[in-house]
Amino acid sequence: MTPLQTADISKLSPTCPLCHTLDRTVTADSLRIGATWACTRCGQTWSAARLETVAVYARYTVARGEARPS
Ligand SMILES: [Zn+2]
Repeated sequence: MTPLQTADISKLSPTCPLCHTLDRTVTADSLRIGATWACTRCGQTWSAARLETVAVYARYTVARGEARPS
């Protein structure tokens, strides 16, 4: 893991990556110990592991986009 990837864990926020709805019943601390929540808007279930997967994929697609001539 690079320092950039490990630093992301401390910035976890219970925000649905799909519809960007913040769930105020879940905290970053509870995510770190394995909490999950179901988005009240789109119904997707999220956990820290899923958020990290989405974040890594988002960075990957952004990097690919920037590498491409526009
Ligand atoms: Zn959602």
